[in-house]
Amino acid sequence: MSEPLDLSMEKWLPEEQVEPSKAWVEGRPLPVQAVILKLPPWVGCFRYVDRPDSHYRIHSYDEHKDGRTVSLTIIHGRDSHLPGVAAFGIPPEHLEPCGCGNWEPPTKDQIDVTREEIEAIKEKGDMNE
Ligand SMILES: [Zn+2]
Repeated sequence: MSEPLDLSMEKWLPEEQVEPSKAWVEGRPLPVQAVILKLPPWVGCFRYVDRPDSHYRIHSYDEHKDGRTVSLTIIHGRDSHLPGVAAFGIPPEHLEPCGCGNWEPPTKDQIDVTREEIEAIKEKGDMNE
């Protein structure tokens, strides 16, 4: 069994960023705060609970109009099947903090391939209309 990951700001952030980060968290709506404390952005990388081979970054914590539901916008890293793509509406419980530091932005080649795939999907969609 590995040790549970220390999610505290003090472990991950330079000292001068701790206070501003606390103020940022405290300024968020309560349901968002709860998600931030489970999946804090300062950990740097996250994995899907059921797909632990790829890394993601959290781009934003999105509060829904009901004032309770929070979903995430994540950015796929270099080792994902959709490198560089931002995905909306991810339920927080699908992710877990990783913190290995191995999230990397997509390479230019990967971006080109992803763009082609998205174009192909769009064209296919047009044909089905
Ligand atoms: Zn990681």
